[in-house]
Amino acid sequence: MRIGNLNGRLVLFEGRFAVDVQSASDGKFSSDPQAIYARWGEFREWADAASKRQSGVEYDFRDLGAAVPRPPQVFAIGLNYADHADESGFRAPDNPVVFTKYVSSFAGADVDVALTGERVDWEAELVVVIGEGGRDIPESESWAHIAGLAVGQDLSDRTIQFWGDPPQFSLGKSSAGFTPLGPWVASVDEVSAGHDINALGIRCVLHELDGTERVLQDGNTQLMIFSVPALVARLSSIVELLPGDVIFTGTPAGVGIGRNPQEFLRVGQTLYTEIDGIGAIVQRFIGSSSGNVSDG
Ligand code: ZN
Repeated sequence: MRIGNLNGRLVLFEGRFAVDVQSASDGKFSSDPQAIYARWGEFREWADAASKRQSGVEYDFRDLGAAVPRPPQVFAIGLNYADHADESGFRAPDNPVVFTKYVSSFAGADVDVALTGERVDWEAELVVVIGEGGRDIPESESWAHIAGLAVGQDLSDRTIQFWGDPPQFSLGKSSAGFTPLGPWVASVDEVSAGHDINALGIRCVLHELDGTERVLQDGNTQLMIFSVPALVARLSSIVELLPGDVIFTGTPAGVGIGRNPQEFLRVGQTLYTEIDGIGAIVQRFIGSSSGNVSDG
């Protein structure tokens, strides 16, 4: 099952069609794409029974908003792949490095993003969406607490991130449009049906205006230092996880700041981020409307 946010309304995707959940359920479920996680078990039962008999509408990817638009809590994990920690000049952490991305930076599946400076970088990430929350969730039960998975970009302004010593993560990763999330939330059973859910290929490809393309990141989630179940267990041992929370699980090697020479996003480029069994999201980079693009 795949669910998402079409023009602000909760939809269930059936092939290339989107079914409006509030209409199809005769109002049993709200149209709010965020509210559904508080009733996840009930919704699954309804959706599994209802999905085949409903017809939907065709849709444009540009009308898909952030698949999870207003999570009560947003966790993002830094340095969760050893090859990325290495390229960033850090040793692999003993405990998860956790920061947040503020929800006002969330964006949809196919969007324009204004570059805030000369050092905006890409980070392809698997995003975990919590269904039933809780505290002290054991690793062995973690997947049962996860509603589904989505594709995310943790766009990062490295100038802001490295303003001071020590570096700070959250502000530099929260400018407008810096948290695209989508194209939908694919349920755990949907992803598991075709793939090993603990070993998903994750790729990030840059398209230039002249049509050339380059693979920037080509990783696999099995190389995470803290696996998805480990992250759910570690986070919930300290913070209560709530329905609809999201966890950005970190990025594999290949980011711009780790390259020699370093490389950052430019106006006119288009970025595709794809994860096996889930789908892809896209961002086109445009100039800052405030005209203050600078190296800070
Ligand atoms: Zn990240």
